[in-house]
Amino acid sequence: MISCANPSAQFLAHQQEIESAVLNVLRGSQYILGKEVEALEDEFAKFLGVKSVIGVANGTDAIEISLLALGVRPGDEVITVSHTAVATVAAIESIGAIPVLVDISPDTYTMNPDQLDEVLTSKTKVVIPVHLYGQSADLQRIMDFCEKHNLYLIEDVSQAHGAKWQGKRLGSIGHIGCFSCYPTKNLGAVGDAGLISSNDNSIAEKVRKIRQYGWKERNSSLIPGRNSRIDELQAAILRVKLRYLDDSNNKRIQIARSYTDDLINCNDIQLPIVKDGNEHVYHLYVIKSRFRDELLRFLSASNIYPGIHYPTPVHLQPAYKNRLRTSINMSTTETVCSEILSLPIYPELLLEERSMVTKNVTNFFECIIKAQKS
Ligand SMILES: *Cc1c(COP(=O)(O)O)cnc(C)c1O
Repeated sequence: MISCANPSAQFLAHQQEIESAVLNVLRGSQYILGKEVEALEDEFAKFLGVKSVIGVANGTDAIEISLLALGVRPGDEVITVSHTAVATVAAIESIGAIPVLVDISPDTYTMNPDQLDEVLTSKTKVVIPVHLYGQSADLQRIMDFCEKHNLYLIEDVSQAHGAKWQGKRLGSIGHIGCFSCYPTKNLGAVGDAGLISSNDNSIAEKVRKIRQYGWKERNSSLIPGRNSRIDELQAAILRVKLRYLDDSNNKRIQIARSYTDDLINCNDIQLPIVKDGNEHVYHLYVIKSRFRDELLRFLSASNIYPGIHYPTPVHLQPAYKNRLRTSINMSTTETVCSEILSLPIYPELLLEERSMVTKNVTNFFECIIKAQKS
């Protein structure tokens, strides 16, 4: 069986180091916000090239706490996309702010900057582009828009740990970067974890307080806060995996290259398009075809299980339907969801598994679809 992601393969690839890091935490005396968390925050800040990183409980909390730290209040509007993990939108609503959703570009499936002007109001405070599938959204135009209208920019980097834009790591460009370390992400824990990055000391200080009851010193809440701590075990494991992040991203890039080489001549598929200035780290390798559903069935008959990211746009899901404000034209968001397919990709995917995948995809188009057409 070949699945879309395989987090336990990454444990096995670094088993000794991970086991000894875990034992080290178990034998120590501090299980929450201790040395491991501090070291992870330092190391990830260096990796990104930012002043501060703060660990939190998960990626949804990272966005929620970032909005609070920027002073976003109930009724304020936050612009993001509908073609994303529901977490991006849920985090905005959880603090009483109003998500306003724009369409995506048909080439990269990331935020369409052409629609930002249309949804801007006097209540707009923040724009959250999502660096979907592993490459940067159109940051230059989104940054220009934010600067022009005095808005904050939060990067949702949950699918692009380590990816670069114009040579800079994503998460180091906006006012804040938010990362999920859910197990299947490019930097994945063995449970829930999240990271927040910023170059602004006062924002970072505020995030740090909100993460733990508004404390700077114990037992004195300076601002209203909550509990969204990251634990030492997850931090210790993430530190091991961070040492291999560039290496494992390079393995993803190699796999993507071989998929592209094998499928480039297949006319019925749109392959991933990488924009100039972007280094794509292939959290997902997403192809698009109007024969998606048939292809999915064909592959699963051969024990290959791709994913769909995502089958239903947020604004059309039951909890949000007919309720969220969107730009007038959401046609790209609403059409790609029935045509996209995420081929299996993870650093430990074997060479023979890759060729199994592309052999089956090619077979499908050469045998099944050609026969149908003729
Ligand atoms: C995974 C993900 C999140 C949410 O992270 P959790 O850790 O599951 O809360 C947010 N945004 C995007 C784009 C994601 O892929």
